Amino acid sequence: MTTVLDGDAVASDIRDSLTDSIDTLTTAGVTPGLATVLMSTDPSSETYVSMKQRDCEEVGINGIHVEIDADAPATELYETIEDLNDDPAVHGILVQLPVPEHVDERRVVRSIDPEKDVDGFHPENVGRLVRGQPRFKPCTPHGVQKLLDAAGVDPDGKEVVIVGRSEIVGKPLANLLMQKAPDGNATVTVCHSHTADLAAKTRAADIVIAAAGVPELIDGSMLSEGATVIDVGVNSVDADTEKGYELVGDVDFESATEKASVITPVPGGVGPMTRAMLLYNTVKAASAQTGVEIEL
Ligand code: NDP
Repeated sequence: MTTVLDGDAVASDIRDSLTDSIDTLTTAGVTPGLATVLMSTDPSSETYVSMKQRDCEEVGINGIHVEIDADAPATELYETIEDLNDDPAVHGILVQLPVPEHVDERRVVRSIDPEKDVDGFHPENVGRLVRGQPRFKPCTPHGVQKLLDAAGVDPDGKEVVIVGRSEIVGKPLANLLMQKAPDGNATVTVCHSHTADLAAKTRAADIVIAAAGVPELIDGSMLSEGATVIDVGVNSVDADTEKGYELVGDVDFESATEKASVITPVPGGVGPMTRAMLLYNTVKAASAQTGVEIEL
């Protein structure tokens, strides 16, 4: 019997659990504020940002949206970040990536005040995460941890294989899961495009986390019986649908379901969790910056 994890439901529980903290903050005169900055004409980036703003509105976070023309000089973005760093009503800053080519993405990430870096990408926050003292856990890895928790899958002592070594998913997730408890103590193997015999690695794993961006890279033959499978991938492939495409994960859901004990769908698995954890980090940032104590 395979459990298909409902990421929408788990994310909704997380949003509900933030309500008390947001009430405590607002009663103390603090409305948590999240600034989203968009410098792109990419339709997916526009959609992601508008969803994040809608999420804010739903839970009572003040969403501040700044849009910068994709052709504007890079300095406009750097100055916007400085202004948001100085604005006490803004507790979290998210610059939607990727930024246009003429903008230095690393400078963007470094420019955000680490205390407002709710994505957790600033080098200072990456360093803290690696040391096992995260200020903000990056949203997607944190969402994966929460999904495992919701499924009652404790990574302690388990063999975890992560497929993908990106700065935003694979690496921070590997760091989180290999830390000492809570939520860690796993033995983690990180695979990438140069890994020899990927199937041998995934077959040896209790938990497989796919974050490669390759449609249906992992199929049932690559899994051990009873594995937990978390599919981070979101890939658009041509399909005979109204829109002409559909979204698929990095896992071939049908064959994987025959082997897995727990699996996440795409869409409706990790995606909603990423958004929920952004709200979580914003609330945490508001508390840390104002000294209003909350329970998270
Ligand atoms: P990146 O492109 O930054 O990284 C992909 C990683 O996968 C790289 O490390 C790459 O290896 C590895 N890889 C690629 N092909 C293979 C292969 N055939 N075998 C083994 N490893 C491979 O991607 P991201 O981490 O940004 O995103 C990964 C996926 O997750 C995407 O589909 C993205 O859309 C999705 N995503 C979903 C989120 C959500 O909220 N659901 C959030 C963020 C991302 P190498 O380093 O050698 O190139």
